[in-house]
Amino acid sequence: MRENDADNHIAAGMKDVSKVYGRGDAAVRALDHVSVDFPARQFTAIMGPSGSGKSTLMHCLAGLDTVDSGSVRIGQSDLVGLSDAALTKVRRDRVGFVFQSFNLLPTMSAEENILLGLSLAGRRPDRTWFTTVVDALGLGSRLKHKPAELSGGQQQRVACARALVGKPDVVFADEPTGSLDSRTGAELLGFLRTSVRDLDQTVVMVTHDPVAASYADHGVLLADGRIVRHLARPTADTVLAALTGLGA
Ligand code: ADP
Repeated sequence: MRENDADNHIAAGMKDVSKVYGRGDAAVRALDHVSVDFPARQFTAIMGPSGSGKSTLMHCLAGLDTVDSGSVRIGQSDLVGLSDAALTKVRRDRVGFVFQSFNLLPTMSAEENILLGLSLAGRRPDRTWFTTVVDALGLGSRLKHKPAELSGGQQQRVACARALVGKPDVVFADEPTGSLDSRTGAELLGFLRTSVRDLDQTVVMVTHDPVAASYADHGVLLADGRIVRHLARPTADTVLAALTGLGA
C-alpha cells in the first residue's frame, strides 16, 4: 500500500500526451506534450480559448478518444493499449459524465434514470450511497417523476446523481452549465462543489466561463494544445485576466 500512497491522491492524469488530427498541411496538433494530474477529492476546471484543446484533453482522459503518444491513467489503470472492450469497462465503471444536454430517458423515472448505467453494467447499487447522493442533490421527493415533470435544474441534478451513483474515480463535466440560465447554472455548480466537499468525489470540468471556473479548487489553462498556466483557487477575475492575457 505505502508506495502507492502518493499515487492514490491522483484520480486521473496524463503524461507527455500528444494528439494530432489530420495529416500533412491539414494536421492540427490538438494536444502538444501535455502532462497534468487531477488530484482526488478536488474540483478542477479546464479552461482556454475555443480550439485550445479542452475537449480533446477531456476525451482522451476519459477514454473516449485515443492518444498518439504519452500515457493516460484513471485511478491506477493505464488506458493506453487497452482493448476497446476494456476501455468501455473503465468508462462504465470508473468514470461519470455530466454533459450539457442532460441525456435523460423520457419514459423512465428520475430514479430509473439515475440507476440505468449501473443496471446496464449489471452492478447492484449501493443503496446507502444512492440515498446520500439523492439527499445531497435534494432529489428525495422527485424520484418517481419523469424528466418532463422536472425543471431544467432538477433534470440536471438527476444527471449529476447518475454520474455520481457508481462512485466513479472521476466525474467529467463538459460545459455543464452551457444550456442553463445563470441561476440554475449556479445551482448546478454548487452541487458539483458539494459532491467534492461533502461526498469526497473528484470533478474535472471543461468550461469557457470564468464564473463557472471560480467554483473550482484549481484551474488549468490551455492554449494551442499546451498547458500554459495553473491557477490555484481561481476567481472569475483571475480567470478572466488569465484568458485575456491569452488574447481569448
Ligand atoms: P476546445 O475544446 O478547446 O474548443 P478542441 O479540443 O475541440 O478544442 O480542438 C482542438 C483543436 O483540434 C482545434 O483546432 C480543432 O479544430 C481540432 N480538432 C478537434 N477535433 C477534431 C477532429 N475530430 N478532426 C479534426 N480536427 C479536430
